[in-house]
Amino acid sequence: MSKRPSPISATVDFDADGVQHGFLKLPISNDESAWGAVMIPVTVVKNGDGPSALLTGGNHGDEYEGITALLKLANTLKAEDVHGRVIIVPMMNVPAAKVGRRTSPMDGGNLNRSFPGNPDGTVTEQIADYFTRYMVPLVDVVLDLHSGGRTLDIIPFAASHLLDNKDQQRQALEGAKAFGAPTAMMMFELDAARLFDTAVESQGKIFVATELGGGGTTTPERMEIAERGVRNFLIHYGLVDGELAGPSQPQVYVDMPDASCYVQSEHTGLLELTVTLGEMVEKGEVLARVYDMTRTGAMPVEYHAQRSGVLVARRFPSLVNMGDTIAVIAEVVDSLD
Ligand SMILES: [Zn+2]
Repeated sequence: MSKRPSPISATVDFDADGVQHGFLKLPISNDESAWGAVMIPVTVVKNGDGPSALLTGGNHGDEYEGITALLKLANTLKAEDVHGRVIIVPMMNVPAAKVGRRTSPMDGGNLNRSFPGNPDGTVTEQIADYFTRYMVPLVDVVLDLHSGGRTLDIIPFAASHLLDNKDQQRQALEGAKAFGAPTAMMMFELDAARLFDTAVESQGKIFVATELGGGGTTTPERMEIAERGVRNFLIHYGLVDGELAGPSQPQVYVDMPDASCYVQSEHTGLLELTVTLGEMVEKGEVLARVYDMTRTGAMPVEYHAQRSGVLVARRFPSLVNMGDTIAVIAEVVDSLD
């Protein structure tokens, strides 16, 4: 069954040379605005023929490293520095970004669980559909900048996925390495089916994702990694000239082979992580304790590492509920090939 055209329209011309700042406009009609629109900022920088790249942030609205890096790039990238076309969308889910939340206040939608999307669905599903059917077909490579947001803190890394098409997998892995974060990862997703990643990869396009920190803010160190990484990505895929700038230490390769990397809480209470982000842990080692906040004299529940590896992500807030991911342990490997 074919889908109707997207209700979203762009105020920029994706085929025009030069720098354009505009919007992807999604009509809405609600109590605040009878004939209104959700306005998703977009910048197009094009200079003749060449590869096309889509750079996205704010797929989740509280992941500020990518949003900030792309707002800065949109302000500074010049057409004469580009070969081909760079499309920059710093806040894909702009309703969520405007209120500093992971999900949209308009419909509760988690954009990165809404792909491939639906032109007749909620606001969030309509945004997903537009990216799937209109933006991704315009480009060869996609860089989607995530981080932990308010509830997770994650070591900065770029990642690619295992794919059936090994040439596509190799090209994405090379881009993830070239991003130049301290760590490069082969990532296992808990729920891949509705991700932007899958919508891009299923069209045969090259997709690189990142996690760049978290906690609902940025730090100078992580911003430097984010900005350097975006530039490295553009250099690697031939969109701008320059020398790749690597991390100061040799890049660490990590693999997340299966769901046992994720440690999820089976208790509600006060979380004490006993391992620092980026630290190595041994299988069986205590990772975290969860305390009963309703009484004194109750021993905490201890959580143990189910595998040896490096702590790549942790829950950021100290309050934890049943089902929350409290730690993610990835395996350090010599090669991702
Ligand atoms: Zn995210």
